[in-house]
Amino acid sequence: MKSGYATRIQTIVIGGGQAGLATGHYLAKRGLPFLILDAGAQVGDAWRLRWDSLRLFTPARYASLPGMHFPGRGDAFPTKQQVADYLVEYARRFRLPVRNGVRVNRLWQKDGRFVMTAGKQRFESDNVIVAMANYQVPRLPIFTRELRPDIVQLHSHDYRNPSQLQKGGVLVVGMGNSGGDIALELAQSHPTWIAGQESGHIPWPIETYVARNLIFRFMRFMGHHVLTVNTPFGRKLRPKMLHRAAPLIRVKPRDLVEAGVERVPRVVGVKNGLPLLADGRVPDVQNVIWCTGYEHGFPWIDLPIFDGKGDPIHDKGIVKSLPGMYFVGLNFLYSMSSATLIGVGRDAKRTVNALSHRLRNGASAVQPWPVQVSSEMSVEIATQEEEVHFVNRDFDASEANVESFS
Ligand code: FAD
Repeated sequence: MKSGYATRIQTIVIGGGQAGLATGHYLAKRGLPFLILDAGAQVGDAWRLRWDSLRLFTPARYASLPGMHFPGRGDAFPTKQQVADYLVEYARRFRLPVRNGVRVNRLWQKDGRFVMTAGKQRFESDNVIVAMANYQVPRLPIFTRELRPDIVQLHSHDYRNPSQLQKGGVLVVGMGNSGGDIALELAQSHPTWIAGQESGHIPWPIETYVARNLIFRFMRFMGHHVLTVNTPFGRKLRPKMLHRAAPLIRVKPRDLVEAGVERVPRVVGVKNGLPLLADGRVPDVQNVIWCTGYEHGFPWIDLPIFDGKGDPIHDKGIVKSLPGMYFVGLNFLYSMSSATLIGVGRDAKRTVNALSHRLRNGASAVQPWPVQVSSEMSVEIATQEEEVHFVNRDFDASEANVESFS
């Protein structure tokens, strides 16, 4: 793109993971012009780049996005690679206009329109949907830099497999689902400690026939229909769930103990270059894996839509104070299932319905750009600035009529 030019389109979706793709599916179904911008090199990278042995904690029958069933047996737990492949196929099947390798580094408003920059590229739109889960920027304690330089330290975000570690002990910091999974794997090759306290655990093994076929049905019902912002119980739970690790799902505390993992209290600092535990002990480890969670990482959003804790203020994804601005994919956006494959499709649908309602009512703050249609997904160049309208005319809504979620 020539510098000084902007790509203009009615709606921009930022994030091309499952949240962005499900949103794109509904925008395409309504024939609305849009573009998905994604920082990753390829669709599916958020999953592809997680640790090698990762398998979903949800069976495949609860991993489908709207309009396309997840392949394979419904009661199997898909691998991360299968999820990444599924997302690639999803984007291909619905011909979703994803531009990969575009990281938006600023989003603001000018003259009633949204403006985004990604390096030298500039985009403008009437509507913006930020479509991504909270797991964007690894959260690390400040004292990580005080660890001895000969200690291998990684965040779970960068952990792939045990070959990244050196010989000797490993301290896994954080007893959430990532910490539990990774500690269990590392216990096979390294003396392993895990620091911290879990926030509860699901008391039954998830791999049994009964769990796969019955208990998950119940969990889905609870997470999808009961624990929502529309119920008193859901509203009470939501503030706690926004900033707390989820209960352990696959790996139980007992599994860790049986595998030889030693449980220790939380890490509170660094002493003589080694991690310092809350009980004053300093385990002599050669490796530390920080399973300390993520930030949503929204400093690039330069808009007055955040509360005192830095969380976006929205009502089921709709930012009422800034018409045209939406979120999809966030933790507990609407329900406990909102940031998962089970829940994101329903939220995407609601958001696109709201956006389309706004367009129908002519509520846009600015004059709409003229829509230019060509026979396939097209780029039309206008005189002063580049005007881009993607219209996927080959999109066949009948392909998409299998709804996974109500
Ligand atoms: P992401 O997959 O994070 O996608 C967001 C996309 O936005 C990324 O491609 C990113 O590159 C891009 N992006 C971010 N910032 C910008 C920017 N500024 N400009 C442009 N692009 C940007 N859910 C389940 O249902 N079952 C499971 O078993 C399960 N296991 C999980 C295991 C782990 C370790 C984690 C962390 C999460 C798990 N989840 C699971 C939760 C959730 O399904 C995943 O996090 C999923 O990746 C969320 O999809 P998303 O599209 O909302 O966000």
